[in-house]
Amino acid sequence: MGSKQQLNILVVDDDQFMRDVVATMISDNGHLPLVADGYQQALAALSKNKIDLILMDIEMPEVNGFALTSMIREIYNHWIPIIFLSSNDSEEYLSKGIDAGGDDYLTKPVKEVILKAKIRAMARIASMQDELELLNRKLSILSNIDPLTGVMNKRALHNCLNEQWSINRRQKSELSILMVDIDFFKLYNDNYGHQKGDRCLVRFTKVLVSLLNRETDYIARYGGEEFLILLPFTPLEGARFKAKEIMNALEKFAIKHGHSSIAPYVTASIGISSTKLNAKNTDELVNQADIALYKAKESGRKQSYIFKSA
Ligand SMILES: [Mg+2]
Repeated sequence: MGSKQQLNILVVDDDQFMRDVVATMISDNGHLPLVADGYQQALAALSKNKIDLILMDIEMPEVNGFALTSMIREIYNHWIPIIFLSSNDSEEYLSKGIDAGGDDYLTKPVKEVILKAKIRAMARIASMQDELELLNRKLSILSNIDPLTGVMNKRALHNCLNEQWSINRRQKSELSILMVDIDFFKLYNDNYGHQKGDRCLVRFTKVLVSLLNRETDYIARYGGEEFLILLPFTPLEGARFKAKEIMNALEKFAIKHGHSSIAPYVTASIGISSTKLNAKNTDELVNQADIALYKAKESGRKQSYIFKSA
């Protein structure tokens, strides 16, 4: 909302003459006036339109401006600037207005030049508020992403997994997961250094991401060199096939690893589980994949293993 932008300004006043005067000033200054003669019309206007600013009379029958302001602050979470208009210029009134949730106070008769300046000031604050909300949204997205690899972090995975778990229950489908761990990554780091280790993680992630072609597939960095892939609506056979694709892709991309004892390139071990294997909750499902991963490592790495209950 820049200062040049047209604002929707709601004028609430029981006096028709005042409404008309103020509404004319508003449209003369390039904004759009909406009018209400009391609380009912005001609440209706607020529910139907995006209102950027409210000019509120104080002395009104039934519900006065203070009470209506409190109601609006109760109903709406987002901040709408409210300026009181009153012929009473006592300090006590001004203070009551601010207490009720008003942002400013103007005395009647309203001078056009003052009203114009107040509108500009409120528009500026409202615009900062919008920017702040946008920043907060960006921040919340960022707090769900692993900064190195750009995929979900463990925190976001937790939410995503819970969501997919309940979708899966409702649809009575099968949700498979793959725990993917880079083989001999410690040796990679020790020999090539952490910077190259980080680059290896980025390239490794790209290989995994390139194999997830459905919008419903998810990948998260679970730990240092450990990744979790969620495959909703996928039976174990499909998960096993995906693991095979990962093995083949790693062979093809061949990220050099001169210190691995099983291949000259970076390989991975993969533990697989699915909701068909009787996990009671998401923690148990992840734990099953973890146990399967351990088996894959134990059996010589560079392979996948499907969880089997003891
Ligand atoms: Mg009045």
